[in-house]
Amino acid sequence: MKNLPSPEIWFYTGSQHLYGEGPLKQVSANSRKIVDELNATKRLPLKIVCKPILTRPEEIRAACLEANAAPDCGGVIFWMHTFSPSKMWIGGLSVLRQPVLHLATQFNRDLPWADIDMDFMNLNQAAHGDREHGYIHTRLRLGRKVVVGHWSDSEVQDRIAVWMRVARAWADWQGGKFVRFGDNMRYVAVTEGDKVSAEAKFGFGVNTHGIGDLAQAMNEVSESAIAKLCAEYEELYSVVDSLRKGGARHDSLRYNARQELGMRAFLENGKFLGFTDTFEDLHGLTQLPGLAAQRLMADGYGFAGEGDWKTCALVRAMKVMDADMPGGTSFMEDYTYELNPEGHLVLGSHMLEVCPSIAAGKPAVEIHPLGIGGKDDPVRLVFDAHAGAAINVAIMDLGNRFRLLVNEVDAIKPPHPLPKLPVARAVWKCKPDLKTAVASWIYAGGTHHTGFSYSVTSEHIEDLAEIAGVEVAIIDADTTVRDFKQTLRNNELYYHIAPGLGRL
Ligand code: MN
Repeated sequence: MKNLPSPEIWFYTGSQHLYGEGPLKQVSANSRKIVDELNATKRLPLKIVCKPILTRPEEIRAACLEANAAPDCGGVIFWMHTFSPSKMWIGGLSVLRQPVLHLATQFNRDLPWADIDMDFMNLNQAAHGDREHGYIHTRLRLGRKVVVGHWSDSEVQDRIAVWMRVARAWADWQGGKFVRFGDNMRYVAVTEGDKVSAEAKFGFGVNTHGIGDLAQAMNEVSESAIAKLCAEYEELYSVVDSLRKGGARHDSLRYNARQELGMRAFLENGKFLGFTDTFEDLHGLTQLPGLAAQRLMADGYGFAGEGDWKTCALVRAMKVMDADMPGGTSFMEDYTYELNPEGHLVLGSHMLEVCPSIAAGKPAVEIHPLGIGGKDDPVRLVFDAHAGAAINVAIMDLGNRFRLLVNEVDAIKPPHPLPKLPVARAVWKCKPDLKTAVASWIYAGGTHHTGFSYSVTSEHIEDLAEIAGVEVAIIDADTTVRDFKQTLRNNELYYHIAPGLGRL
């Protein structure tokens, strides 16, 4: 995928000088072995780098400052092999700005019941060393993920892998650039928001370019490049006859190829991670980008319609999280419901822009009127999304904070063909059920635009919220409206007070 960062994760082991040089050498060797073996599992998406063990306040502070400053570092894992008194860590943790995973593990898996002596106990006291460490994290209000269990346990490794994928997305957001072609769709509230707060909180910047700048990039595309891309479309997709070379509407396909190539050039030249556009601002364009937006999303660019820059950045982050995983991630909008009591369903889609990474089978390239905007008919990929467990994720600006919102769903094969629907679509069942999920979503102020993914899970979004220090609310199989409303009320109060608590 485009511009995928691969930061290192630095592994810091805490100890102290109470036990003499021999045990410290052993601690160091054990840490190296854990890191080597974790890297060798191939279950982790990022490389872990073993750093020297930390035993003094000066070392710890220097290590945290080094992690902050290193362009290659995307997060730190802490482990307390022995007891590392945590007042030593205050100076370092107070300045640390990297994502943190606290691995509460120990070197040995099994207790050596017959041989255990006090030397063993002194060397292997992570059980309480990790608690001392947890206290100082909690005391300092440090956001972090705690993973507990033996480091060889595949479940433990999977928890680390989830966090790494999120740390990678976080690294991607830091200094990341998103471009808006045009402003928000007129009068729409939920896609608005404070871009200054977003940049301060999440690290990415959103700036506008006139649609004319894009039109100019499109005008610079060569005829030969357009012909080549049209041939690629015919190879990859089921292109309807009228759009194929020699067909009556082939010029429309050529125009889409020009749009795609112009947008690609614009995004690459500006080093943008994603973009938004709006059908209300298309001066210089004859149609809203459909196929182009879909294919750019499939290459990993963030996208959302109608100037919705928050969802655009979220879709990009989810695409970084799911890099190299099967399933796919797309911009999505819940469009309309099946409210038959036999089985409530949501039909999700958008005017054009659903990512083909979620397609079941080969997409068709078709041309139909858009129905709004008064422009030429846009070309688009049409397909059904595949079946499988998925999530919808939304991000809203509530004025005093951002809220992430998740609904766990089960996508299904559409129960009936949709021969007259000229857009890509997904059909899903909400957890725990449609009435509870939709009521909870509405109480949470959830946007109609989402990031929809088969590979990103609630755990990823929880980890993201922890790193960013923002609220996350999750609607899953256990949700009840009564409890969910109370959680939102509690969060309202917490996030009013939390800025005052800060990093203590
Ligand atoms: Mn929309």
